[in-house]
Amino acid sequence: MSSGSPLLAELIEALRCLPGVGGKSAQRMAFHLLERERERGLKLAAALEQAMQRIGHCSQCRNFSEEPLCSLCASSSRDRQVLCVVESPTDLAAIEQATGYRGQYFVLMGRLSPLDGLGPEELGLAQLTQRLGEGEIEEMIIATNPTVEGEATAHYLAQLARAGGVRPTRLAHGVPLGGELEYVDRSTLAHAFGSRQLLD
Ligand SMILES: [Zn+2]
Repeated sequence: MSSGSPLLAELIEALRCLPGVGGKSAQRMAFHLLERERERGLKLAAALEQAMQRIGHCSQCRNFSEEPLCSLCASSSRDRQVLCVVESPTDLAAIEQATGYRGQYFVLMGRLSPLDGLGPEELGLAQLTQRLGEGEIEEMIIATNPTVEGEATAHYLAQLARAGGVRPTRLAHGVPLGGELEYVDRSTLAHAFGSRQLLD
């Protein structure tokens, strides 16, 4: 792609792993770092290395965590009778920021999508079933995105909840169909969350 530096070519190729970054953007990023941001580029490299090596998943909620149990799951001030199921850590963050929710979470790290090879196993649903079976949880708030796959996932989750004797609820209308929770404004999300409805 560019002149004689194999390291530069390697950097450009590596940057292309980022979502939405094609060859041209990757080249621009690499040049920018080399020309103007050497120091912060080194910080980025160090942070990336640490994060990639040390961040795993919480054994209880599957969110990213450096500890076996994340701070949210370990907290004694969270309500253990309500479990909110989300597709991704960004959805969890959006709910934490927009609502006063004080219960626990379960992060699917995806949604049911057979074409992409994402089934119940990949989403940790055996783990979720086990948790529902422990008898502590009374309500499961299903906060998957209102997309086709998100709705199919919600349907599946509601069945799991009922089978475990847990009440499944779903965020109310307001989150636009086909929308992703992370892009919905705070007050809309707070309202949809607050006026969630029993699924039947
Ligand atoms: Zn956790």
